[in-house]
Amino acid sequence: MAVMTDVSTTGAALRSPASSPAGAVKEADVEKLRFIDEMTSNPDAVQECVLAEILGRNADTEYLRKCGLDGATDRAVFRAKVPVVSYDDLQPYIQRIANGDRSPIMSTHPVSEFLTSSGTSAGERKLMPTIKDELDRRQLLYSLLMPVMNLYVPGLDKGKGLYFLFVKSETQTPGGLTARPVLTSYYKSDHFKNRPYDPYHNYTSPTAAILCADAFQSMYAQMVCGLCQRNDVLRLGAVFASGLLRAIRFLQLNWEQLAADIEAGELTARVTDPSVREAVAGMLRPDPELAEFIRGECSKGDWAGIITRVWPNTKYLDVIVTGAMAQYIPTMQYYSGGLPMACTMYASSECYFGLNLRPMCDPSEVSYTIMPNMGYFEFLPVDETGAASGDASQLVDLARVEVGREYELVITTYAGLNRYRVGDVLRVTGFHNAAPQFRFVRRKNVLLSIESDKTDEAELQRAVDRASALLRPHGASVVEYTSHACTNRIPGHYVIYWELLTKGPAPAPAAGAAVGAADTLARCCLEMEEALNTVYRQSRVADGSIGPLEIRVVRPGTFEELMDYAISRGASINQYKVPRCVTFPPIVELLDSRVVSTHFSPTLPHWTPARRSD
Ligand code: AMP
Repeated sequence: MAVMTDVSTTGAALRSPASSPAGAVKEADVEKLRFIDEMTSNPDAVQECVLAEILGRNADTEYLRKCGLDGATDRAVFRAKVPVVSYDDLQPYIQRIANGDRSPIMSTHPVSEFLTSSGTSAGERKLMPTIKDELDRRQLLYSLLMPVMNLYVPGLDKGKGLYFLFVKSETQTPGGLTARPVLTSYYKSDHFKNRPYDPYHNYTSPTAAILCADAFQSMYAQMVCGLCQRNDVLRLGAVFASGLLRAIRFLQLNWEQLAADIEAGELTARVTDPSVREAVAGMLRPDPELAEFIRGECSKGDWAGIITRVWPNTKYLDVIVTGAMAQYIPTMQYYSGGLPMACTMYASSECYFGLNLRPMCDPSEVSYTIMPNMGYFEFLPVDETGAASGDASQLVDLARVEVGREYELVITTYAGLNRYRVGDVLRVTGFHNAAPQFRFVRRKNVLLSIESDKTDEAELQRAVDRASALLRPHGASVVEYTSHACTNRIPGHYVIYWELLTKGPAPAPAAGAAVGAADTLARCCLEMEEALNTVYRQSRVADGSIGPLEIRVVRPGTFEELMDYAISRGASINQYKVPRCVTFPPIVELLDSRVVSTHFSPTLPHWTPARRSD
């Protein structure tokens, strides 16, 4: 394979872009690499300009006026006057915009739409106001990815990318603005839909298939097109690892129909969207040989290395496997026979942050370089306990972070967020030119995550409280609980371990049975799902990317054993707290060995695209 993994010369390659580990640098890439070089050479100066530009254009906003900025655009006044905030502080302003107030509340540029973050507030997705020119900024960051990749992987213009990309449902706020995820907004934009032909952005998926809102039809069409062009595929990906694993699962479940369609050259009637049918018809020809090949590979029951068996020219997987997605690395390796995994960028609904300048490095080594032109970035030091104080005087500028330290990211954006805590904790690993590079450490307060869902401790507690109320009539209660994101099978699902207490003389191991019936515990599973946030329920209902929640009842005394185990490993008895989520394999094994009964949510929870609180 011609993938270059020696990336020690990245800095030099970007600085003098005549050649690279992968050979001569393409003319078109030189300009982009030079741009990265310029931006990272003097990040402090770029940041100063960005802040002045943001504060200048937003000087007349209600928000900055209230802060008492009085038109100032310099760092000193900004630091002295503008507080560090979280979503809940901004919610009243955001709600007014959502309700139709068009005055310059947070930004002087008109709010073009809301981006719905996968982070939630009161169970609903956070609404991030955005403006038109942010789309250009996002496009700019995207345009830097291939020039960097071309430094390491030659010949990507000689084939195609198989990317499983999806749009999600959108809603209207009461004031008539569209609210949708940032990627849905991007795929539906002219930047994406009307992109000119470019051999480096040649995808097997027709745009109509990506834009189809029906998850099954979209996936089916993308898969059939990917199979038909299997020898052209040089890279394969999705945004996050969980998305690519869903695609593999889809192949496992649907290969017979897919092969039948390929044999006949006719798309299944289950795909009804006319524009998708038309786009696929342009690619699908009767190909009995390919159909036979797919049947041969998929009927073996052996899925190890399926990606390279079906798409033999794939050089790397393009998926994010940092942060919560790291749990999928072994499964991705299993299906791909150990292909390199490229984590190319770090972004959010609030702002796109930066890119990985060594995209072919090992996932454990990934660091992202924040591009100083994307917004204004500050960093709150995180102490040994993992907490970051909200004290604005502690904030450190992008160019002044220290290697080895962890910080929480705080951003000021063109769209009108000022000193906003994103909730991501990053560790500085080094510098590219003068720009710091960051390892993604974790998202604050996230206990459980299967794909884009982020469930925190308070949400889990609320869900357990709500579900355990169903046990009361049976004289039972939950004495202890913990949880685990189970991703052995796709889709992954939440597992909640419950230790129950039953009133009366019921023998301990029968506690599960004593609550009446398995039926009640299955209802408890569903009740917990109903109590979880909208992103979780959307993944369950609309996307099918999370499986039914499971309660595993453990025998009485199990949580005491858990404590004994923790203490034997050095935990303090006085300070011991039951972990509300467990990942350490010996602990998961201990819990599993004490399970007396398991129960699954019997049906889907309630979910509609409409927001509850609007
Ligand atoms: P959203 O607001 O739904 O767009 O989600 C953005 C969040 O996803 C970020 O704040 C991170 O917590 C996470 N995220 C985005 N990109 C990456 C990445 N490359 N590695 C790890 N986590 C990421």
